[in-house]
Amino acid sequence: MTPTSAVPPHVVDQIVTRAGRPDFDRWADQVIRCGHCAHPVRLRGQVEHRTATGRQVTYSTDGEPDRVLLIRCGNRRAAVCPSCSYEYAGDMWQLLYAGAAGGRKGVPESIRSHPLVFATLTAPGFGPVHTTRADRTGPARCRPTLGKPKLCPHGRPTWCTAIHAEDDPRLGQPLCPDCYDYPAHVAFNWHAPELWRRLTITLRRTLARQTGLTAAEFARRCRLSFVKVAEFQRRGVVHFHALIRLGGPGDDYQPPQININATALTDAIRHAAAQVRLTVAMPDGPDLVLRFGTQLDTQTVNGGPVGELTPEHAARYIAKYATKSAEDFGPGPRRITPEALPLLNVPQHVDQLIRTAWELGMHPAYEGLHRWVHMLGFRGHFASKSRRYSTTLGAIRGERRAYRQRQTAEQIRELADDEQDTTLVVASWEFVGVGYLTAGDTALALSAAARARERRQAARDAA
Ligand SMILES: [Zn+2]
Ligand SMILES: [Zn+2]
Ligand SMILES: [Zn+2]
Repeated sequence: MTPTSAVPPHVVDQIVTRAGRPDFDRWADQVIRCGHCAHPVRLRGQVEHRTATGRQVTYSTDGEPDRVLLIRCGNRRAAVCPSCSYEYAGDMWQLLYAGAAGGRKGVPESIRSHPLVFATLTAPGFGPVHTTRADRTGPARCRPTLGKPKLCPHGRPTWCTAIHAEDDPRLGQPLCPDCYDYPAHVAFNWHAPELWRRLTITLRRTLARQTGLTAAEFARRCRLSFVKVAEFQRRGVVHFHALIRLGGPGDDYQPPQININATALTDAIRHAAAQVRLTVAMPDGPDLVLRFGTQLDTQTVNGGPVGELTPEHAARYIAKYATKSAEDFGPGPRRITPEALPLLNVPQHVDQLIRTAWELGMHPAYEGLHRWVHMLGFRGHFASKSRRYSTTLGAIRGERRAYRQRQTAEQIRELADDEQDTTLVVASWEFVGVGYLTAGDTALALSAAARARERRQAARDAA
């Protein structure tokens, strides 16, 4: 909610009531402590210090506003919780940046000299869809006719002369749903993680050949590290953004023991992406050969020619995509069945993808697909990395948790004025609910969250 949008009178009343309470500052402090989470968990409970001589309650939510403590939800989806998602993106950025620029999180600065490439791998076409394009003069027509206008076998135009706005609901929708290959589209999403794995294998082989080594000798001298993020395109198919780096074989971030630069790595990625194939079974008809699309974008990072990406930009770009997910796109974060479709009010294209996924899931070769229908068949992780790219999200979260725990422990010590040495600390918590108590509280928390994010983004941009 923005301050300019119309706030209903009862919500205004709730805001006024909250702000007028004597414990408002303490409440606002709790909102800050849970990172302005949009749906914090409300806990009730206490911390007890037990010693040989007795026990003493040193902290209790009884003294808190509404007798609860707010704990952040931790959801990484921007549409669910902007604040927790922002924190997740920040952690991702740390991880990505450490692996690209070094000098932090246990990665040496010398990592900057390792060949590193930012690559975007797309899916192939499954039929023409409405799209935005640009040529040298600016935004261009969606699908101009080439020569004599022709209708498809279903009597629909194969062209579109519109210049679509960014929010045009037609974007990503097929020109003709009957021409569109829905089963192949869903099969691509389903098999995309395996296609990526094949790519990394093909890439190692390509690099070995380029450098005149056997696969075994290459593995002894060079390691391929990557971090990748899956993103849904408008048409409902996943593509991958990845940072791919070469290094030495050990765990200590040494340079590769072969003579290779980022430009040669780019060539190898382009070659491997064009080569890789995955043959999969289809219920009705012949096997399907899956491959990446011909739209492949590669940019060298660090030591590349002028005009290519800095580690900062590459990290920011991928971290941004890590917080986007299928729900920004349509079906939602929860599992669904075709019976629930009329309630979801999704575009016809998404509706057809879900139905197709459900039908494919009946086939033994696609066992398990029913559980991933809401992801249009994509079952992979939205963000994943090879073991030695840099640090892990777990380690970054652990550092932050330890910092918060130290803060909490200090706070509790202050509260308890605790001088006994043999103290047993017992905490007991009970779950009260999720989210703020009133719409007014939510409005207050979210506007404070937006202000805090603006401040942090300004600080990040200035860094
Ligand atoms: Zn949250
Ligand atoms: Zn169009
Ligand atoms: Zn058609």
